[in-house]
Amino acid sequence: MKGFAMLGAGKTGWIEKSRPVCGALDAIIRPVAVSPCTSDVHTVWEGALGERKDMILGHEAVGEVVEVGSLVRDFAPGDRVIVTAITPDWGSEAAQRGFAMHAGGMLAGWKFSNYKDGVFAEFFHVNEADANLARLPDDLDPGTACMLCDMMPTGFHAAELADIQFGESVCVIGIGPVGLMAVRACVLRGAGDVFCVGTRKVCMDAAKQYGATDFLSYKNGDLAEQILDRTKGKGVDKVIVAGGNADTFDAAIRMLKPGGIVANVNYLGSGDYVKLPRAAWGCGMAHKQLRGGLMPGGRLRAERLLRLIETGRVDPSLLLTHKFYGFSHVEQALYLMKDKTPDLIKPVVYLA
Ligand code: NDP
Ligand code: ZN
Repeated sequence: MKGFAMLGAGKTGWIEKSRPVCGALDAIIRPVAVSPCTSDVHTVWEGALGERKDMILGHEAVGEVVEVGSLVRDFAPGDRVIVTAITPDWGSEAAQRGFAMHAGGMLAGWKFSNYKDGVFAEFFHVNEADANLARLPDDLDPGTACMLCDMMPTGFHAAELADIQFGESVCVIGIGPVGLMAVRACVLRGAGDVFCVGTRKVCMDAAKQYGATDFLSYKNGDLAEQILDRTKGKGVDKVIVAGGNADTFDAAIRMLKPGGIVANVNYLGSGDYVKLPRAAWGCGMAHKQLRGGLMPGGRLRAERLLRLIETGRVDPSLLLTHKFYGFSHVEQALYLMKDKTPDLIKPVVYLA
């Protein structure tokens, strides 16, 4: 079968591989819609995960089941499904501790385009199909549903990590598709002021529709000073980091009230250390927490987030600024994600 792969650090291309084999609990899927992710960009061009050779990219797909293992109960060939980007081993010790995304080792629930071939292929393999697939409703556009694989679960996880409470103020640093979903999640959890950091107009317009109340730019000087200016020196209750780099935490801690939380979902592709400002961290005693997490995967979460779309509480179709038709466009869509044109939020490629 054909796939679009990371050939090595900084190199991509089309390759031929044998079709994956289906285990007893597993499924083989033919993608119907796929979307490239900023994480693919970190993986290929920043070498964030280390060297990978001839590994098929992509971890966001909805598709059609073409084969299931003998122990799969709920899915059959012909079913159309949403596949979560993180596909944990649900029987693991890590899953029993509540951290299924780290089953098999840190971040090891992230299998596609990390430990095995990803979804930019004619066929791909999903472990534990009953636990890692969700049914795609007939009336939901597969491109929109693709946002349930990673963008919605990650953005919503940011709001969970930040433990947003009614009326709290939050600064969302980074309003690409992940940050935008975080904005929506904060609003749904009852946030008051939602400050957003970004420069692309298309993202700011979407953020407004999702309920953002104020905007600032990282190009206009120190972010913490900008927030302190707008909050009469008080700062914000919570900070979500969905963009920036290893230096972003300095400003994040400085803009945070004592007792607040910095919740990171950004994938830090480079730099060896994250440094915290000693004095602004209360010399270590400010009760300012720093949390960071990989999105939780799995069927239940996908089904719950799907209900938020079906009940009209979230409309992830606003993210889909670029639509392509045909498998060969995967390459163009990935490069678009790398180059981040001013009119881009998220591309999607329809395959069937
Ligand atoms: P985008 O690149 O689309 O968006 C990044 C945002 O950060 C933009 O709003 C950008 O602003 C802003 N930004 C850029 N530089 C800075 C800076 N120096 N300081 C502050 N803000 C800045 O990314 P995505 O939304 O696609 O993804 C966000 C991150 O989430 C990525 O690192 C991705 O890999 C990661 N991710 C993590 C997952 C997880 O499970 N934890 C899952 C999926 C993705 P501008 O408007 O100027 O472009
Ligand atoms: Zn992703």
